[in-house]
Amino acid sequence: MRASADRVIDIAVCTRPFRPQGPRLEAERLHGKHLVHHYGHGGAGWSLSWGSARAVLPLIQAGVAGGRQQQQRIAVIGGGAIGLTSARVAQRAGLRVRIYCKDLPPDVPSSAATGMWSPDSRFCTEQEATPALCSQWEQMARSSFRTWQSLLGLPGDPVQWRDGYLLSDLPFDQDAGGYPVGEPDYPDLMARLPDIRPRSVLLRPDEHPFRQPHVRRFTQMMFNLSVYQRLLLEDFLREGGEIVRREFESPRQIAGLPEPVVVNCTGYGARALFGDQSLVPVKGQTARLVPQPEIDYALIYRGHGLVVLPRRDGLLVATHGEGDYGNADRTPDRGQTLAAVERVAGVYR
Ligand SMILES: Cc1cc2nc3c(=O)[nH]c(=O)nc-3n(C[C@H](O)[C@H](O)[C@H](O)COP(=O)(O)OP(=O)(O)OC[C@H]3O[C@@H](n4cnc5c(N)ncnc54)[C@H](O)[C@@H]3O)c2cc1C
Repeated sequence: MRASADRVIDIAVCTRPFRPQGPRLEAERLHGKHLVHHYGHGGAGWSLSWGSARAVLPLIQAGVAGGRQQQQRIAVIGGGAIGLTSARVAQRAGLRVRIYCKDLPPDVPSSAATGMWSPDSRFCTEQEATPALCSQWEQMARSSFRTWQSLLGLPGDPVQWRDGYLLSDLPFDQDAGGYPVGEPDYPDLMARLPDIRPRSVLLRPDEHPFRQPHVRRFTQMMFNLSVYQRLLLEDFLREGGEIVRREFESPRQIAGLPEPVVVNCTGYGARALFGDQSLVPVKGQTARLVPQPEIDYALIYRGHGLVVLPRRDGLLVATHGEGDYGNADRTPDRGQTLAAVERVAGVYR
């Protein structure tokens, strides 16, 4: 892998829209509108997008006049992972959708994500993980997973399965520290999906090229977000969807929209727009190195907050560190990326 500072072509920072109690999927009556909230997916927004959009569909349909679903108009606010996918699911159910949003890909926070199947990443805290919430998560994850498999093998590879290597300084039965210090405990939700999770394999030192004493090979689904976002947008427009660029400053402005049903998919933006103080920003930084198509595997360095994904639009290097939780600062930290790139270069013998 050619990991060096001169090959960094992009650094992006965004905030995961995390709610300790899990994403908000809820309908209310506001200023004469049937408003459906759909935001707060933490570090799992792409992974859970299809299942979560299916979970809110009945809430949307409940607001459509007289139950006549076909060709009824709805508005979706937001053009990120959740807004675009909610719009596609509503279209598939026969609704006519107009998206209103401040930004669209590649300028939305969703575009800065790593692009890994990570449905359990910062979904809710351990403390708030009630049996009902965990079971809702499982339904979303399984439903999403099925849709992701239907997107394999398409031109541009929006979705792929790749092998990867989990590197560790410590034996795998010893705790290497998962999330950075200062973050709450998160539940182990993946234990609910053993049947759709390929097993990882412990490798002997002569079976891999890495310096670390403990290495496992895993198999992982990943999303090539550039091409995938484009696919979502193209499918949405081809099926008659409309897009209006608009920023809302208060919920009252939403009352002026012509659509009687409005789906709020504003992600972390819901904190300012709807005053949801339970939304916690969790900062994350991703960088891309010049694409190297011959690198077809992922790397995760356990305990170092480092992930490398072989995306088609570049080798994606994701880092996390202390101070990310509760941090909404979106200023790129080039030093953090360069340190991560150096660490990647150093894992090979
Ligand atoms: C570094 C990082 C890595 C990640 N990696 C992964 C991963 O590998 N896999 C995974 O599944 N998830 C990942 N995530 C999480 C995932 O990116 C988020 O959960 C997801 O992007 C949330 O999508 P969203 O549509 O809710 O929000 P956003 O992408 O923020 O979209 C919000 C939309 O609403 C619009 N909007 C907001 N406020 C207003 C307003 N007032 N008026 C009009 N429009 C408004 C915005 O313009 C935008 O269009 C990662 C997140 C980070 C930060």
